[in-house]
Amino acid sequence: MIDAGLAAEVSRAADLVAGARSVIALTGAGLSVESGIPPFRGPGGLWTKYGEPPLDGYQRFLRDPRGAWLERLAPRESWAVALHETLAKARPNAGHFAFAELEKLGRCDALITQNIDDLHRQAGSRNLLEIHGNHRLLRCIGCMRRFAEGELAIDEQDLPPRCPGCRGIVKGDTVHFGEPIPPDVLRGCYEAAERADCMIVAGTSATVFPAAEFPFEVLRRGGSLIEVNPYESELSGVATLSLRGPGGAVLTRLVAEVTARLERSA
Ligand SMILES: [Zn+2]
Repeated sequence: MIDAGLAAEVSRAADLVAGARSVIALTGAGLSVESGIPPFRGPGGLWTKYGEPPLDGYQRFLRDPRGAWLERLAPRESWAVALHETLAKARPNAGHFAFAELEKLGRCDALITQNIDDLHRQAGSRNLLEIHGNHRLLRCIGCMRRFAEGELAIDEQDLPPRCPGCRGIVKGDTVHFGEPIPPDVLRGCYEAAERADCMIVAGTSATVFPAAEFPFEVLRRGGSLIEVNPYESELSGVATLSLRGPGGAVLTRLVAEVTARLERSA
């Protein structure tokens, strides 16, 4: 699975992770491909197959929250149906479990993810910053309070549901096109990036705002950047180390090596 050259690189990465003061991570769609979730764009992508969803999704929601809720409760758009079915049957893979293990080892202070699939949560990660939201949660757009499935009674005669705290409109937590990144999550990301001296980026080329900023913030302050990606990306040129391999195998190996180092130094 991992050749000698890659193993040597993973070993160097483990030195950085084990020796850092504060490690954070950023993950994207590539990490969930091994869980059967296709990326949105590119070959086999959901949007490539069904067409792009509207670029003003958030404005549409605000114009007609009741209509948006009716569509959410009984999706008719084929891409929405396909996405719903795919997410419902996806399970975390070795890459997700590796990040949960790093957190237990005290080697992942914050896990920023662009994924909405809930798989990091299911794998056991808790220090999560889901910049595009989580498809299983609801969020009040007034006070940003999150609700789990079933926590709010959804009455089809009285949509959209309202926040019991501030009476704000409740929508799905997944961030629509045109919707600002929830400010509480964004603040958490900047705080984490300002503290970190080591960052692992897995399954994303991190070219989209705001994710694109964090690796450069860590590098600018002298920290190290470890890229885990089977393909070369825009980050490869600046990364301290680029681990070129499948996320599940590479991250599992990385965690084993970090664990060995921490045990030796204990
Ligand atoms: Zn509220």
